[in-house]
Amino acid sequence: MAPTEAGEALLADLIALFAVLASASLPGTVPLTPPVEPWQVRYAGRFRRYGRPAFGVWTAETVACPACGGKAGPWTVTCDWRLVWLGCPCGVVTHEHGLAFSEVWLLLPDM
Ligand SMILES: [Zn+2]
Repeated sequence: MAPTEAGEALLADLIALFAVLASASLPGTVPLTPPVEPWQVRYAGRFRRYGRPAFGVWTAETVACPACGGKAGPWTVTCDWRLVWLGCPCGVVTHEHGLAFSEVWLLLPDM
């Protein structure tokens, strides 16, 4: 059975498609681990730093900007998976906020 002209035209496209698929899966072209990208998100609200100075005693302190004392943000939260930076609307960016990663992460909206 002879292939139709339409079939031959389709075949050419399929060959190009398979060539693309095959080239993308060559060994060494796919990284073993995904790149760890820094991320940045805006958060309008207060960050609370929790402490436990004594047994049965918990403290919660609202993080304030070291420059203007602002607490409500909106903060620009930047993380490179090593440090979390808080950017205040006044322009000051600090990582010396004393917050644990989870104290920041759990407050953020889904990204
Ligand atoms: Zn500030």
